[in-house]
Amino acid sequence: MNRSETSGYKQRTYKKTEEPSSRTKKTDTKESAVKKMDERKSAAKKTDTRKSYVQKGDVKNQSGRKGVIRTDKGRSNTEQKGNASKEKAPCPVAKRCGGCQLLHMSYEQQCKLKQEEVNKLLEPFGKVEALRKMKDPMHYRHKVHAVFDRDRKGNPISGVYEAGTHRVVPVDHCLIENELADDIIVTIRGMLKSFKIKTYDEDTEYGLLRHVLVRVGRTTGQVMVILVLASPILPSKNNFVKALRSKHPEISTVILNVNEKRTSMVLGERNITLFGKGSIEDQLCGKKFVISPSSFFQVNPEQTEVLYNEAIKLARLTGKERVIDAYCGIGTIGILASDHAKEVIGVELNADAIRDAAVNAKKNESKNIRFYTADAGEMMTAMAEKGEKADVVFMDPPRSGSTESFMDAVTKLAPSRVVYVSCSPETLARDLLYFSSKGYLVKKMIPVDMFPWTLHTECCVLLERSNL
Ligand code: SAH
Repeated sequence: MNRSETSGYKQRTYKKTEEPSSRTKKTDTKESAVKKMDERKSAAKKTDTRKSYVQKGDVKNQSGRKGVIRTDKGRSNTEQKGNASKEKAPCPVAKRCGGCQLLHMSYEQQCKLKQEEVNKLLEPFGKVEALRKMKDPMHYRHKVHAVFDRDRKGNPISGVYEAGTHRVVPVDHCLIENELADDIIVTIRGMLKSFKIKTYDEDTEYGLLRHVLVRVGRTTGQVMVILVLASPILPSKNNFVKALRSKHPEISTVILNVNEKRTSMVLGERNITLFGKGSIEDQLCGKKFVISPSSFFQVNPEQTEVLYNEAIKLARLTGKERVIDAYCGIGTIGILASDHAKEVIGVELNADAIRDAAVNAKKNESKNIRFYTADAGEMMTAMAEKGEKADVVFMDPPRSGSTESFMDAVTKLAPSRVVYVSCSPETLARDLLYFSSKGYLVKKMIPVDMFPWTLHTECCVLLERSNL
């Protein structure tokens, strides 16, 4: 998971080109939106090589896109390897965008490389299982972000930031993004002139539209559109929403997010709902989840199910356990665990996510789960100081990993099992070393490919308390 994608996630970089997508079609109902997505999925399956996706002579209309947050630790070996033959990448903006480092490789080659890299980092702790691959590794990102700007002629453009800069690379269609989301962004760009909406200029701080985020519910087909503006006032907002929905009736909610600051964060703090409920719902592993604009929710729902199912299996819950879901976001893992445990406690820093988590628990009739807004390390320490105990701890920290104080507190709560879900094998290896020094032994390590075409790999690891 790209943890940098919570409320405060850093801007990445994409843009959409000027030409509206030829694939933008009107549909009338949410059901038809779901059908449309299914059709696209099977179409994507048919074109399962990147070469066939980007046709010769059609390069200007295509674009690769990124889905990747760069690590804050500098470039890994894999990243360097990934860039070495970028020349061959089939995406026309692969180099400038930098999001997909492995575009020049077949999916099989990428998986092999990822397995080798994860093995290198984690094999000192035991055997690493085979990477859980995607069946269809295209268009998996169900959350899509575009930054807006203008070209030299003053025409609005949308896409991604060029790697390491604030220059915008126009991108209309990306190989890893949900296609409906891409189409909606292109439509919005096409509407700007007639609505006299200026794109925001970071240097002069003049203009209105900064970013657009689209989140598509894979199971429900619900669509959330977030317009990030430099001011709370969108002129002719009702007509704008009406015009947008007439082109994309599948849109369930439109939110105006106000970001008035000179900042590299995408989202500001204030959300104004222009249409619909202000959130969408999706389903994972048979459970319903409400997702608000600033809550973290994995971008690749298909592989998230694989990941969560593995995590729950690793915990070997029998119905008698007291479970902690640390860094719980909107309560996903905890709610899944609650069916098989006596009691679950979720802890998370983001108050919006905790509000969603409480709603989600209710929706799924999970009565044995409680959520707390708190720093996970502080809360665990406070629990440990009170002499509390836990049987199983799930932990799913951001890319930076966990903290020694959190892990110290875990050892005091003395769970027999810790299931560690990580989006950074580097910080995972560091934390596993610390856990090992505290008497927790690694029993199983499962890498999951959540981000095909990029260097990122998710892992879930079972640690057990040794009896020494
Ligand atoms: N388990 C959830 C969320 C994982 S993302 C899921 O799978 O959807 C990591 C989460 O950790 C984010 O929601 C982020 O807001 C939260 N977080 C980051 N630092 C934290 C801290 N110090 N204490 C508690 N939560 C934290």
